[in-house]
Amino acid sequence: MHFSDYPLDPSLLRGLEQAGYEQPTPVQEAVLEPALDGRDLMVCAATGSGKTAAFLLPMMQHMLETPKADGGTRALILVPTRELARQVREHFMRIGGHTRLGVDVITGGDSRAHQIATLRRNPEFLIATPGRFREMLEHGRTELDDLEFLVLDEADRMLEMGFVEDVVTIIENSNPDRQSLLFSATLERRGLERITALLLDDPLALTL
Ligand code: AMP
Repeated sequence: MHFSDYPLDPSLLRGLEQAGYEQPTPVQEAVLEPALDGRDLMVCAATGSGKTAAFLLPMMQHMLETPKADGGTRALILVPTRELARQVREHFMRIGGHTRLGVDVITGGDSRAHQIATLRRNPEFLIATPGRFREMLEHGRTELDDLEFLVLDEADRMLEMGFVEDVVTIIENSNPDRQSLLFSATLERRGLERITALLLDDPLALTL
């Protein structure tokens, strides 16, 4: 398969070409089609597998197909660390550099005032760590009533780092009609079942 075999916008194909991505990785091959079809997914895949593009591409494609003028946050990507948030954002810019899709990052350790201003801009995509994002949610700085996608990246690490209650609160406060994607290096982690039961609706489970 080549990326051009998928129903992807030319602007995304251009971004992929410039990034030097010629062929989808196995995780991208497994994820793209069901994710583009709107399925919830539970994916066991390691870092380095190409999982970031696997979840970014279907969401970006959806946003390009169905642009919205009112500007609420449409996709939330939860990650365990600031460093990973930065990497996901870089990935987003690389692949999505030819689109007009907006992305911002909300992580612990950064200025709250700056983040409140960021949230007022309502970027289409938010990449966030669970603790700080939950705080913003509970203080009414953002809401997830119209959320269309919720992604948990490196879910096992989020649990390991003690973010379980933050993640649960965020899931419980987000639009129940969203599409949800969970990525984890292992599906064995204690507590993961509670998260998957809350997050996912009739998920397709993929182990790569
Ligand atoms: P990830 O697992 O998402 O952290 O990606 C691991 C690395 O693989 C990153 O440096 C990506 O830039 C790179 N990558 C992702 N998808 C592809 C692809 N289809 N072809 C070549 N490199 C890729």
